[in-house]
Amino acid sequence: MSALIDYFREPDNCLFHVFESDDIQLNLDENAVWFQGVKYIYRNWRDFHTAAVEYYESLYRFNKEKTSSYREHSSERQSDYPSREDARLDLLFSRCTEGNDDDAKVEKVETPPGDVNSFVPEHIQPGHPPVRSSGRPPEDFYRLFTAYAAVQLTGEESTPEAVHGSLHNNPSLARACGFTPGSKTAPLPSHRLLQQFDQIMTENGIWTMIQLDAVKNNLRDGTIEAERILVHDTTHHIAYSGFETVTYTNENGRQQKKSQSFLTKSCRCGDRENCPHPWEMSDNGAGTIVKHGGKMYWGHKSSIIGLPDQGVPLAALAMADSANHDSQSLPDTLEFMKTHFPELMNNAEYLLDDCAADSDILKQRIFNSFGLEVNCSVNPKRRKTIGAEDLPKGMQKLTPAGYLYCQAGHEMDFLGTRTGDGTFLYGPPRKNGNEICCRECPIREHCCRKNNSGGRRIAIRTGMLPHISPEAPPMAKRFQKRMKKRTAVERIIYRLKCRLGDRYLHKRGNHNYQATLDKSMFAFHLLIRL
Ligand SMILES: [Zn+2]
Repeated sequence: MSALIDYFREPDNCLFHVFESDDIQLNLDENAVWFQGVKYIYRNWRDFHTAAVEYYESLYRFNKEKTSSYREHSSERQSDYPSREDARLDLLFSRCTEGNDDDAKVEKVETPPGDVNSFVPEHIQPGHPPVRSSGRPPEDFYRLFTAYAAVQLTGEESTPEAVHGSLHNNPSLARACGFTPGSKTAPLPSHRLLQQFDQIMTENGIWTMIQLDAVKNNLRDGTIEAERILVHDTTHHIAYSGFETVTYTNENGRQQKKSQSFLTKSCRCGDRENCPHPWEMSDNGAGTIVKHGGKMYWGHKSSIIGLPDQGVPLAALAMADSANHDSQSLPDTLEFMKTHFPELMNNAEYLLDDCAADSDILKQRIFNSFGLEVNCSVNPKRRKTIGAEDLPKGMQKLTPAGYLYCQAGHEMDFLGTRTGDGTFLYGPPRKNGNEICCRECPIREHCCRKNNSGGRRIAIRTGMLPHISPEAPPMAKRFQKRMKKRTAVERIIYRLKCRLGDRYLHKRGNHNYQATLDKSMFAFHLLIRL
């Protein structure tokens, strides 16, 4: 164990230590965020103890399976060997887009199961991996974990390649994490060891566990506070894979096309085309994502919920199938929030979303299940503008979002809802702050009554805008003020995706995508504590 780590852990008990001069410099430099992050993890190593124990346990299982799995794998025989073509369609129909409405729409996040330990968990601490009766002791969890966290805090996505590169190129970083380059006691880890660490952390949901703990910890000690409003959006990352187009016949007998990940097998048989092992998708969860303007990407999609005033993400979940509509991710993401942050959900009253959530059924469902009022902009594609022929005289058009324009081209001033007769009330258009436009309007004769000095007033039956809730009309100033907070989600996503990660993925598969999100989330929540 290096002198530096002892200092990190118990600064008060340090009488005399030898530091490199650049370590002292880094310790004083508040801009060296990664260094402060590493120091934080070692000082609070007990917060990561459960993750460490889970890692060693998973590593033990991994090593045990590695020796037996290949033998078992090659002896698995199936009676019918599906061809690549059959498997392609089977997999297509089992995707959760193809009418399988009951399937979860976001990737199920599983935190590791409690296990019977083959060692004494209390003995685990930095520099003390478990001792087993046989074999070499494993590499220290804390060293590897801080290396991944440090690289993520430098703004790079912490892939095994990036961590390997940083440890070799930056001796200060390697030393701070607990390695002593060139020594026999704590040498730099090999690329393979770093890959194995990431794989075990990913496949056993330990990245998720660490990330969730960090968010909960920040909520518990008030680093982040509950807000009345939550914001939701989806974002995508470019996939590290290709796709093929599958043609199939739908239930109406029509030919349809859909993009799907290439098929592969995980076995090592010589003749994979005809061997008995099952075909699987090389990048499950990836799909065609259509953005505004019809631009298409082959990628993974995730659902993000955050707090707008503090600009903090609370949940970032990979969607089970990226080809699904954005709105489908909302109920499952909220369910996740309710499970993990029940108090925060009790405090929340509104959820702001984009027009993808503009559906009465969805809004009602969210209100019934979570007590949240969904506020979103009106989806202009689904509604029509109402023209002059169906409006009171003097009026030109009523937009789907409830904005009313007069013949002179001014926007009428929305006043509110009159519940008695079920109408939306609009007052005269105003300019320069408060002046009523009607007074000098050239077509006043056609619109206002002669004795009307207060300007034109209009009542529109709420039935003309059936998609607009009379209790929370989007034309109201209060609603617009609230909706202004929605853009916060874009800043949250930008930080997660571009400042603390990479918009391009480096691995295939949805569990790897979830790990990418988890690492960025952890870095974010560590950063706001430093
Ligand atoms: Zn095979």
